[in-house]
Amino acid sequence: MQMKAALMYGPNDIRVEMTDKPECPKDGLILKIMAVGLCGSDIRNLTTDSRKGNYPFIYGHEIVGCVDEVGPEETKYRVGQRLFLFPGTYCMECDSCISGHSENCENEHVAKLAGTGGFAQYIAVGGEKIRYGGIYEIPDDVTYEAASLGEPLTSVFACLENVKVGYADTLVIIGAGPIGDFMAQIAKIRGAQKVIMIDINAHRLEMAKQFGVDEIIDSSATDPIEAVKKLTGGKGADKVISATPVNATQTQSIHMVRKGGIVVFFGGVPKGSMTELDCNLVHYNNIWIKGHFGASYDQSKRAFRLAIDKDFPSDKFITHILPLDEINKGIGLTRSGEAIKVVLHPFD
Ligand SMILES: [Zn+2]
Ligand SMILES: [Zn+2]
Repeated sequence: MQMKAALMYGPNDIRVEMTDKPECPKDGLILKIMAVGLCGSDIRNLTTDSRKGNYPFIYGHEIVGCVDEVGPEETKYRVGQRLFLFPGTYCMECDSCISGHSENCENEHVAKLAGTGGFAQYIAVGGEKIRYGGIYEIPDDVTYEAASLGEPLTSVFACLENVKVGYADTLVIIGAGPIGDFMAQIAKIRGAQKVIMIDINAHRLEMAKQFGVDEIIDSSATDPIEAVKKLTGGKGADKVISATPVNATQTQSIHMVRKGGIVVFFGGVPKGSMTELDCNLVHYNNIWIKGHFGASYDQSKRAFRLAIDKDFPSDKFITHILPLDEINKGIGLTRSGEAIKVVLHPFD
């Protein structure tokens, strides 16, 4: 049997074509993919030599669908069930998992079960992934598109919870991409008083306003450090999150935070690159610097619940729903800032 998929043959060389449909594992299932989100990390992977010559490859990890087939030894799920696949998989047995931080799971074998392969019509889900968890059922009255936001929301949800963004905080977010927009929305839900968004793209900044952003700073036209100081009575913000793939915004971030404040490096920067930091400023101003990646199972579950909540404005985030055939168009729309979140339909 054949299926349609978007195969990556090299940087910027993505072709939608027919390929072999995966076989149903004996102890697993085949999920018919009804929607799959296009993530910033997908775009980074699809436009660079992310597989070091090892092609073709199918990316896509924001996967939702319905069970199409179950293996003879699979007992947990049945055909027709609507599922969300969280791409993180944790062992729940190692020291990190037991301590409540499954995002730091030390079991490499289990981590490798994490899903990619979503830019296709079907995906096989093995018995091990089913046993280790991270698969959540989508209620009947929730759209697949809204449910697909569960994955990109998860890391943002975890980050803001870990650094306790909350009541009365002034928060600076650098990077008005979909992740920055999710951050603004969740920061407001958590009670942040003022959210300041910084970007170099005026259109993105305009769109960010609908997610509770109080102040926007166009750093292509204004010095963002001066601007943040001005908006905070010269003090700096309580918390600053660098949510871009750029080293320069990490460098800037420690100049925008108040004494004793928290800076988070959320966005991944190019592999092997180094960021220059004024470490005396970090030292004398008692600045906390924290990295962020991923989320625990507990946080992923609660973030999924938020994504499928009736009050969560998923429609505002999903600006484009495109057939999988138009994945290249989706990449262009996201890169230019015209789209916030693109969701692809493999069966359109
Ligand atoms: Zn993602
Ligand atoms: Zn573990």
